[in-house]
Amino acid sequence: MQTRILYTKPSITDLETRYATDAAANGWGDKCYDYIHRFEKQFREHLGSRFAIATSSCTGAMHLGLAALGLGPGDEVILADTNWIATVSPIVHLGATPVFVDVDPISWCLDAKAVERAITPNTKAIIATHIYGNLADMDALLDLGAAHNIAVIEDSAEAIGSVWHGNRRAGSMGLFGTFSFHGTKTITCGEGGMFVTNDEALYETVLTLSNHGRARGQKKQFWPDMVGFKYKMSNVQAAIGCAQMERIDELTARKHAIFEHYKTELGSINGLSFNPEPHGTINGAWMPTVVMDRALGITREQMIAAFAQNNIDARVFFYPLSSLPMFAPVPANKNAYDIPERAINLPSYHDMTDEQISRVAAVIKTLMTP
Ligand SMILES: *Cc1c(COP(=O)(O)O)cnc(C)c1O
Repeated sequence: MQTRILYTKPSITDLETRYATDAAANGWGDKCYDYIHRFEKQFREHLGSRFAIATSSCTGAMHLGLAALGLGPGDEVILADTNWIATVSPIVHLGATPVFVDVDPISWCLDAKAVERAITPNTKAIIATHIYGNLADMDALLDLGAAHNIAVIEDSAEAIGSVWHGNRRAGSMGLFGTFSFHGTKTITCGEGGMFVTNDEALYETVLTLSNHGRARGQKKQFWPDMVGFKYKMSNVQAAIGCAQMERIDELTARKHAIFEHYKTELGSINGLSFNPEPHGTINGAWMPTVVMDRALGITREQMIAAFAQNNIDARVFFYPLSSLPMFAPVPANKNAYDIPERAINLPSYHDMTDEQISRVAAVIKTLMTP
């Protein structure tokens, strides 16, 4: 049996272990926020956003942001049916109603026309998830948001390194953006997240909420001004994040190179499509993904079996959220229901060798020529 190829794995060098060791040994007392503030600054500068707040997860960052908007019962939030559960759970926890709409067949992200049809007087926000690094049509969504006075939010957990037209980074365009540093993501702290915004009032509210409702500048000790959340990142996690941010160009470049390698090996085969990268944009390529034309008759189950046989971890494309037992099905979301049945995520991690990439590509080629 050939060695196992994992679908993802972080790149941890001496730099990360040195910073983490320093934080564990020295980052206490009056130094207990040093790496956190440094990480936030690096992130702001990378993204071109005015404000950033490190959090314990992307889910936490989304929960804080939606809570700061005052989201509650009776409010509706539009999001793509193709999504990870983390995007919808904060909506549910706040008592608001998620409205699942279909995705575009090319970008696998929110279909702006479907969003427009789903807007009602109760719509409070639209969450654009940049799935697998692919970019949602931010121009169309921002126009809709402006026309209807609805907040447009970016779940950029999978989209560090993705750049939209006009050199605008994923996560920096909406009212706020959220990021994940879970161990499977391009930049990792083990667990962690980031809330980013250019809106100063929103920043102050989220900062207060993230610290148990204790406002900055509140002189009274142990005096929360409101009921908040506890979604803070630790200094030790932030230390690893600082090292990763120093290496961000290297980390995102390698992700992109792996994506290009797959396309070079498989791009000329009829009936396969990949993460799109429209002219003038950059796909951060967190998760290279192949979608097979229906006419080929190759199912997800066949793909999973072929990869398992070759000791390669392949990941299923996200099931539509509305197909999960806790939600009502929306079969009208044709693309969200159809694509996962004939798609697969391919392994991609920094230290993956070119030979390993070819081994993965060979499985797809074999499937195509039975
Ligand atoms: C990973 C992910 C999240 C959640 O990130 P956590 O840091 O695990 O909370 C949210 N949305 C999407 C699209 C993700 O891929």
